[in-house]
Amino acid sequence: MGTSTYELRCRECGTTFGNQPSSICTNCFSPLEVTYDYDSIRPRISRDLFASRAPNIWRYRELLPLPAGIEPSLPVGFTPLLSAPRLGEKIGSRKLLVKNDAVCLPTLSFKDRVVAVAIANARSFGFDTVACSSTGNLANAVAAQAARAGLKAWIFIPSDLEPAKILGTQVFGAELVRINGSYDHVNRLCSQIADEHRWGFVNVNLRPYYAEGSKTVGYEIAEQLGWRLPDNIVVPMAGGSLITKIKKAFDELILLGLVDPKPVKFFGAQATGCSPISTAVKQYNTEIEPQRPKTIARSLAIGNPADGHYAIKAISKSGGWSEDVSDPEVISGIQLLAETEGIFTETAGGVTVGCARKLIHHDRILPDETTVLCITGNGLKTTDVLADKYQAEVPIAPKLSEFEAYLASKSAALPATVEETVNASR
Ligand SMILES: *Cc1c(COP(=O)(O)O)cnc(C)c1O
Ligand SMILES: [Zn+2]
Repeated sequence: MGTSTYELRCRECGTTFGNQPSSICTNCFSPLEVTYDYDSIRPRISRDLFASRAPNIWRYRELLPLPAGIEPSLPVGFTPLLSAPRLGEKIGSRKLLVKNDAVCLPTLSFKDRVVAVAIANARSFGFDTVACSSTGNLANAVAAQAARAGLKAWIFIPSDLEPAKILGTQVFGAELVRINGSYDHVNRLCSQIADEHRWGFVNVNLRPYYAEGSKTVGYEIAEQLGWRLPDNIVVPMAGGSLITKIKKAFDELILLGLVDPKPVKFFGAQATGCSPISTAVKQYNTEIEPQRPKTIARSLAIGNPADGHYAIKAISKSGGWSEDVSDPEVISGIQLLAETEGIFTETAGGVTVGCARKLIHHDRILPDETTVLCITGNGLKTTDVLADKYQAEVPIAPKLSEFEAYLASKSAALPATVEETVNASR
């Protein structure tokens, strides 16, 4: 590993490649992953050291691929881990927690974590341009963080993404390329562009570094539980990277003696309209059959997930399971989390809540086990899916008598609760 404590290694044949912008093994064409010299790291870290640092992902810097000489200045991550008793009561869990990345800074999704680590590496590799293929949140995170780092950004998206995610990319001055096709078409194009242009594609040639940023969700959950691991974790899946990296984080904390060893069950969540990973898990397949996505959960709409095979492995080895929910259940999930816990999540969060509800209902998750739901994005980015759910009220005059009449008309016709709506749709 030279003077660095980490380097790239092939996940299948084990060949090492030092540190360079590449993501595929030249021997066997399998994905590369960052591996660490844990023996040299172990004596340099402790719970107290991490706790003494500022509340952001860089407090775990020894466990991230942070190049020498790069000092990140952006406070990303360390989002709240909240107990969710009211949601728990509705869906049947007595020890339910929400990891709330709907308020991750700077762009309100967990993608800020992966981009922060990728950009640190893009700078050390000397790229002046960063790029990505995106289902929306990655676009926002790359555009914002590139602006702050003084890098140029090229963003490639399917043409029909949510307006808020498009605007939330353009505002940072990024070049936005809309592609007529699905995410999988966009991603294939980006692999070809990466071969032609010396650009740092955060999720193509920088992907191994990018993916390590997701581990910080796992470190934070463990630290916020008092350096303990939960019994279960429910994670939304697009490419399948986040779920495998939370698993890696927990395994590392055990290996380094920072938490007591303990089995954690991993549960994957997808939308039925794009469920290649959950379908494979439910059919006991170890490989992915690609799908053509059709769901309102645009941020999860990857039909041919790059880390699908490893996500299946992580889930089945842990004794977990995977579920998927229909678009109406996604919307009910968004409303349920908002009405019970005051958290407004995007469609991916609706998927997570809906799947958790199913997993508990089917006794895959038991009521007295500690269960963490990963809420990964913010509802203000996908308001269009709720457009027909709430009518604009007719305005009234600023008079007490008018209000009293309005109140009387309201109590006459109370709307159905979310729970009644969900039960009716079962
Ligand atoms: C990208 C994304 C995910 C899933 O990430 P993968 O690592 O690709 O599985 C989950 N939630 C949101 C909101 C996302 O944007
Ligand atoms: Zn290999």
